[in-house]
Amino acid sequence: MTAKSTVMVTGGAGFIGSAVCRHLIGTGNYRVINVDKLTYSGNLASLRDVEASPDYRFVRGDICDQAAMLDILRAEHVERILHLAAESHVDRSIDCPDIFVTTNVAGTVSLLNAALAWWRELGQPADFRFHHVSTDEVFGDLDFDDSAFTEQTAYAPSSPYSASKAAADHFVRAWSTTYGLPVVLSNTSNNYGPYHFPEKLIPLVILNALEGKPLPVYGEGRNVRDWLYVDDHARALELILTRGKPGESYNVGGRCERSNIAVVQTICDVLDARRPRSGGGSYRDQISFVADRPGHDRRYAIDASKIEAELGWQPTETFETGIGKTVDWFLANEWWWQPIRDGGYAGERLGLAG
Ligand code: NAD
Repeated sequence: MTAKSTVMVTGGAGFIGSAVCRHLIGTGNYRVINVDKLTYSGNLASLRDVEASPDYRFVRGDICDQAAMLDILRAEHVERILHLAAESHVDRSIDCPDIFVTTNVAGTVSLLNAALAWWRELGQPADFRFHHVSTDEVFGDLDFDDSAFTEQTAYAPSSPYSASKAAADHFVRAWSTTYGLPVVLSNTSNNYGPYHFPEKLIPLVILNALEGKPLPVYGEGRNVRDWLYVDDHARALELILTRGKPGESYNVGGRCERSNIAVVQTICDVLDARRPRSGGGSYRDQISFVADRPGHDRRYAIDASKIEAELGWQPTETFETGIGKTVDWFLANEWWWQPIRDGGYAGERLGLAG
């Protein structure tokens, strides 16, 4: 039996981080140290399936606290870092950009410093990894007939969120070039799936529909995103963490481009079939077009051929199968989302820039 590798997952109580913790523990090959500050989007209930595992440990901590991060790296003898902790919502970044700089930029630099100190104490092992999880939004806006983002696409972020992620990406690469820290990066398209915080489009629409509320569609709903089921992303992140080449970045996407209006209509159709409205009619009747997001990027699309060719990764879900699973999960797991809806975030509009 081979020894289990110890992975520190930052932001493991968030949407993607919790999927990663569940996936890594599920393989039986890792010890997982989940380090999370538990901001509004962190939720330990998302770790219910793994919290009793002897291979799982939660530590409440802030990535901006460099000394605390170094203590955890030493105490747990961490061999790989999978860095997801971030402020993640574009609309919130429009209302309050400063925390995005603090967490996503300064927090990433603080974690890089702690990782570098620990890597040096370990004797600079070549198989150590600092994997930074980033977004396709760093590449900016595509026209409808442009080809998809590749790893060579120039950075052109539009929002405070994507600017903060782009800055963090540059710092991560600088710690590789300047200090030799073995880093790897991934840039991923929009994720969706179970345990998604209901401020994001897909869970917001599912829950507003069930509660009889309007289903907000920004502008005319023509903006296109490339959707990736979160468990497909978790598998990709494990592959990049363990087999990705140091210094490289990998684009990860589901090859599922959909306009926002098509996404909302599909959710309505799935709900019409699974849980017909009590008063009759379609959930589509609840669709409501609202003022567009300032600086709203038209289209994102990922060319994932590098990770497909080099690491043998493929998404397993189409948009239709993934959205069916997601709707089913929200219908069956009110215990998870109802406290969020009751507790402070009930689906109100954010990010109108004053
Ligand atoms: P999320 O908001 O659901 O989770 C973020 C987690 O980070 C939360 O648990 C929060 O408590 C934690 N956190 C925030 N500040 C922290 C700090 N200072 N110290 C420690 N923990 C802190 O976000 P998500 O959607 O799961 O995204 C995870 C990562 O993936 C982010 O880096 C995001 O930029 C990136 N990403 C997300 C998507 C997407 O579609 N959701 C797409 C591409 C990339």
